[in-house]
Amino acid sequence: MPSVISTDVLIVGAGVAGLWLNARLRRQGFSTVLVESASLGGGQSLKSQGIIHGGAKYALHGALSGASEAIADMPRRWREALDGKGELDLSGVRLLSEAHYLWSPGTIAGNLTSFFASKAVRGRVDQVKGEQLPPALQNPKFKGKVYRLAELVVDVPSLIERLAELAGDSLLAGQTIEPLYEADELIGLRVDGRDIHAQRIVLSAGGGNAELLNALGVAQPQMQRRPLHMVLVKGPTLKPLFAHCLGGGPKPRITVTTHPAADGQCVWYLGGDLAEADGVAREPSAQIAVARKELEALLPWVDLSQAQWATLRVDRAEPAQSGLVRPDNAFLDSQHRLMIGWPTKLALAPDFADRVLSQLSRDGIHPTPQAPLVDVPRPPMAIPVWDELLP
Ligand code: FAD
Repeated sequence: MPSVISTDVLIVGAGVAGLWLNARLRRQGFSTVLVESASLGGGQSLKSQGIIHGGAKYALHGALSGASEAIADMPRRWREALDGKGELDLSGVRLLSEAHYLWSPGTIAGNLTSFFASKAVRGRVDQVKGEQLPPALQNPKFKGKVYRLAELVVDVPSLIERLAELAGDSLLAGQTIEPLYEADELIGLRVDGRDIHAQRIVLSAGGGNAELLNALGVAQPQMQRRPLHMVLVKGPTLKPLFAHCLGGGPKPRITVTTHPAADGQCVWYLGGDLAEADGVAREPSAQIAVARKELEALLPWVDLSQAQWATLRVDRAEPAQSGLVRPDNAFLDSQHRLMIGWPTKLALAPDFADRVLSQLSRDGIHPTPQAPLVDVPRPPMAIPVWDELLP
């Protein structure tokens, strides 16, 4: 390997944002190096629920911002990519569910009225009954209403694997990152002692962006973390369920996704309000007790006697917002050769890549011929969180 590497775009952080961007850039002929300090997808990406939101969840607030409309296109773009006809060829990636569902267990009409009045869901929601219900809800004792949302759920481990394939020889494992300056201008990064010169540097390191910005002496943008305390349940009796279960408030009471464990059993991954502030304040055992009570109340026919339980504390990393408001769009800031961003949602990885590509075009950056990376250490794939916590 040469002691100095030159590349068009040097990306730091191989979560969904960095990997998606890397694949888009390579498809357009750019040379890239993508540096990862731990494992591919092992930050937030492999801990996410894999829902490709189209904005329906936000319509529960009653008021929709224009930004929620921007996310509305994401299911179509992902669908095209999954069909091998889109901006990336993701044809091998496993789709866990063709739809995500909205499940109203009782009498919370007010909540649903504003939901159905919203532009984001109009024409994109159908009520389902009987055999069309998600398998876990097909029981004579089931009461309530279920609506099918035009949102997909992807298997994130297979997504990350495919994006790593599309990365070709561009992946580099590296822990220590220092800035490289020439006449006071940032011209690249030194990764584990090796100089990498780049036309542009993109920081897409999720929660690691704050520390990188600090190391580069860059004060803005600032980052915020929003903690979650998720619950995982694994058991031989669990059937697939992908749904936001509504409570009285603006956020789903619980959001359930179902993931295949390595031993073939289903794992229910529980987020939503359960995992937010009150859940974050609970000790793991109390959090599991609350989750168990919720499932027993909502799905009394499901036998949880042999279930294994675990919780996971994980932060969402985003640009700082006053009042911890959730941002709706991918975020990108550009300062000379440096770009810094967060997709803010797995679903918005394509939007993040768009923003970088637009900035490259505005800056007149074009692909240049570069030598391929050879004989460099590659970062490993991360292990799915359900297999790590519930082996
Ligand atoms: P990450 O996936 O965190 O990747 C950042 C990478 O950078 C990591 O691999 C890390 O190791 C690496 N890194 C950090 N520091 C350095 C460094 N100094 N040098 C090199 N590499 C570094 N979004 C949805 O759209 N749908 C969902 O259903 C959904 N569910 C979620 C559930 C949970 C519990 C959480 C926490 C989030 C969820 N999200 C969801 C949000 C989504 O997961 C994130 O927005 C998205 O994964 C962020 O991707 P990323 O690539 O920016 O960050």
